[in-house]
Amino acid sequence: MTTTPPILSARDVHKTYRLGKVRVPVLRGAHLDVHKGEAVAILGASGSGKSTLLHILGALDTPDRTPSSQDIRFEGTSLSSLSERQRNTYRANRVGFVFQFYHLLPELSVLDNVRVGAMVALGLNYRAKRPEVTNHAAALLDQFGLGHRLTHRPAELSGGERQRVAIARALINKPDLLLADEPTGNLDRETGNSILDALEDLRARTAQTLVMVTHDPAVAARADRVVSLADGQVVEAAPAPAHATHA
Ligand code: ADP
Ligand code: MG
Repeated sequence: MTTTPPILSARDVHKTYRLGKVRVPVLRGAHLDVHKGEAVAILGASGSGKSTLLHILGALDTPDRTPSSQDIRFEGTSLSSLSERQRNTYRANRVGFVFQFYHLLPELSVLDNVRVGAMVALGLNYRAKRPEVTNHAAALLDQFGLGHRLTHRPAELSGGERQRVAIARALINKPDLLLADEPTGNLDRETGNSILDALEDLRARTAQTLVMVTHDPAVAARADRVVSLADGQVVEAAPAPAHATHA
């Protein structure tokens, strides 16, 4: 049992998309607590709202304001109470994002793709910190087995290598929380496993807090704790895999 307060706490989160007159309720009172150092997998079918929830946790999107809704708290502070500037700081410094399709900038080198996250976070202070950032970026890339690819462009890398660059980018500002949206979803099983191995190594070294969403029970099983997203709510125990998927 963990007695410390959660680093991230989502309470009664609602989100409904409106497409013209059609309302698409996606999150209907989702709760989630994440403790420091924990790796939580959110397992859900395609369209169940995993990306929506992850974006809300990372302040890339906002939940609906409803009378009952109690928002997201990060280290006890309500995200909805933040000014736009504070939200930007939260997004840039406290959380790191990894996406299914890497979202690397094709015209930049591997090293610059990682440094760009620090540029965004540091703004005008970046110039002074550049040597430090460069060392950190190179060290992260080295840890992920890409120390010899610093000057390469994303197009010259495999999918698994691109995702490792994206993970290094997500870590450049030493985020408290790493949010990963189907990080292996675009990769074959073996390459996907190598990404999960890289995340596991990272966590063994740094106890990085991780929230990962996936539709794949085998991927989710690599986390410390698995929750399920279904009918807009987070259910603590993952349902037993009733039917084996025939891939
Ligand atoms: P998942 O990541 O689990 O596949 P998403 O969070 O992407 O699910 O989407 C959940 C539901 O919300 C889907 O039905 C999707 O079509 C819908 N949806 C997602 N984003 C939007 C949007 N910007 N506008 C309207 N509907 C959306
Ligand atoms: Mg998604």
